[in-house]
Amino acid sequence: MHPCVDFAEFSLSGEYLARIIAVANQKGGVGKTTTAVNLAACLATAEQPTLLVDCDSQANATAAIGFAKDPSRRTLYHALILNEPFDKIIQKTQVDGLEVIPADKNLAGAAVELVSAESREYRLQGALKALHEKYRYIILDCPPALDLLTLNALVGVSELLDTLMRIRRTLNPSLEIEGILLTMYDERTTLSRQVATDLRSFFGTQVFQSVIPRNVRLAEAPSFGKPIIFYDIHSKGADGYTQLAQEVIANAEKRAGTGARSAHSGA
Ligand code: ATP
Ligand code: MG
Repeated sequence: MHPCVDFAEFSLSGEYLARIIAVANQKGGVGKTTTAVNLAACLATAEQPTLLVDCDSQANATAAIGFAKDPSRRTLYHALILNEPFDKIIQKTQVDGLEVIPADKNLAGAAVELVSAESREYRLQGALKALHEKYRYIILDCPPALDLLTLNALVGVSELLDTLMRIRRTLNPSLEIEGILLTMYDERTTLSRQVATDLRSFFGTQVFQSVIPRNVRLAEAPSFGKPIIFYDIHSKGADGYTQLAQEVIANAEKRAGTGARSAHSGA
């Protein structure tokens, strides 16, 4: 029932450079992981090569896309802290065209280890740069906090609006809001309708037209390690995320068409 705020960076200075979208909200349990996993799966299914990056030490996105816990698996931790090469870390998933950089609990320590690291806010951006040309979309699932890892994700791509402004001023001038997504929407409740009306009157077209309904199939799918489109393609949740993916693709095409692409700040 709470809005989930997505932020994006336009790291587009060339034809095939990925759009990086961080799914972020410092509030917990609002549907970030559900959105990251299902948006990524729907984009890939729409023939957009996509990388899902699990930036959360809870590793929920890793599990939801089908990877059971495995202590020997290499993760974002190995890339960010140990500088291990991506070819050992990136895994194919059950969805054609979708690959993943998994997370593990070590990432909780990464935020602490990064505190004393040089250019700590830019680690992820630097690491992802090597992958820009391989994917159309890179989707980051952020933890429910504005810690250094989220800051990393938001630098590579944003927290709420004043943070967005602050990061834009200091760390990443090309950070923009991709869109604000209503998740767990229940049209029968006055609260949902009120939140939707308020968001749209305040943020206007920055609110995605697509709305993700509260749908039990979406809540069930992660325990089967499947994105919603593989778990129940006929569900309302699958419709919602399919529409969202189409909207994201259409927005990208619109921006490309109007020449609104901006060069990568650090490229
Ligand atoms: P955290 O802040 O802990 O990372 P989150 O914002 O990533 O949480 P999710 O894990 O995606 O949130 O969702 C929280 C719970 O709500 C999960 O059990 C998920 O399956 C369920 N859920 C998410 N979206 C929906 C939806 N549209 N309808 C029904 N249940 C949902
Ligand atoms: Mg999550």
